[in-house]
Amino acid sequence: MVDINKQRVDLPPEPAACAPETDEQRALRQSERKFRMLFHNAGDAIFLWELRPGEPPVLIEANEVAARRLGYRLGDMPGMKLSDITTAPPEEAAATLARLARDKHGTFESTLRTCENAVVPVEISSHIFNLGDQTVLLSVARDISRRKAEELKLNEMYQREKGLREALEAEIGKRVDFTRALVHELKTPLTPLIASGEALLEILQDEDELRLAGNIFRGAMNLERRINDLLDFARGEMGVLKVRCQPVDITPLLLDLAAEVSPQFDRKNQSLELEIDDTIPLVLADEDRLRQILLNLLNNAGKFTPRGGEITIGAHVDGKMLQLSVTDTGRGMSPEEQAHIFKPYYRVEDDAEPNDGMGIGLTLCKMLINLQGGEIWFQSEKGRGSTFFFTLPLAVNRE
Ligand code: ADP
Repeated sequence: MVDINKQRVDLPPEPAACAPETDEQRALRQSERKFRMLFHNAGDAIFLWELRPGEPPVLIEANEVAARRLGYRLGDMPGMKLSDITTAPPEEAAATLARLARDKHGTFESTLRTCENAVVPVEISSHIFNLGDQTVLLSVARDISRRKAEELKLNEMYQREKGLREALEAEIGKRVDFTRALVHELKTPLTPLIASGEALLEILQDEDELRLAGNIFRGAMNLERRINDLLDFARGEMGVLKVRCQPVDITPLLLDLAAEVSPQFDRKNQSLELEIDDTIPLVLADEDRLRQILLNLLNNAGKFTPRGGEITIGAHVDGKMLQLSVTDTGRGMSPEEQAHIFKPYYRVEDDAEPNDGMGIGLTLCKMLINLQGGEIWFQSEKGRGSTFFFTLPLAVNRE
């Protein structure tokens, strides 16, 4: 593309005056020369058309930029018709002219045609005014080829991105449907198993039978929890895992959870302590998800801590966040293990403490905590225990 701004037009030298000029004539000549200079060296193509009622506009004059951009010799341009240099269909050109005749000025996008039939997109700013007894149309056409090319490229990229997004959404939708159907199939037979196990626990008297019924019930509950975790994890991976946050009073929730997990800790002779602030403001969280996170961390603490160990739940306000923690005096983790624990399906097999987990618990905790606007991290030392910390936003910001 020719860079029209880089090319300057010099006017021919002034002819020697044949008769002495008056001051007025000299001022007029200099003014004319100045405006001619401006006209030909403007950054945009300029066209001056004569408008006659009922006739198509006729070009009176164009500037150098116009001639260069359209590939004509400047002297050949006067007398050209609108249809010689524009690609606009006649009806469209007529409508534009009618609008201009009414408003006397206007700015619009159009396309010019070069002498080689190439199309140049332009933004045209037009004015109609009278010059003596002539009505003229002045059109300044700015070349917007670069902008149009960028717009085209952007639009192509947008269309491509849109297509990919739609395909991805359809794929995610299919997977969500499949996972939902799979979970339904897996959970349906579990429901009567859990209900019957629970009923047996209430009816049976014999110690051995009670133990067996307890095993069935806990096993079925455990399986259900894992299926739910798997479904959540699959949703998280597909980016469709949702949380519904609202103000939650955390103290009763922690007391309730402690009561729920106590029996399983008792079985391993583990102690459970609560070290929580006396008054904790409401936090903004999804209560069910919060339970799920804490249960996951508490289960891990119990699982990876030997008999007689200590587990502590902490809750302390820290600025605009509540910091919760689960500490254990268990086996802790080596730096190598620590590097992987938030990766899906990572789990450490230990002969002393068999691990029946799937290795998605912590990944899921992280997803759920992040969705609620919090962070999760930990401190751990091999053989000395671990603390898992996470934060949740307070419901009301306290500066
Ligand atoms: P899993 O369901 O297998 O426990 P997690 O994602 O919850 O999966 O944990 C991943 C791994 O992180 C565990 O297999 C274990 O090696 C380690 N881990 C998690 N919590 C603790 C803990 N409290 N003490 C020691 N190791 C832990």
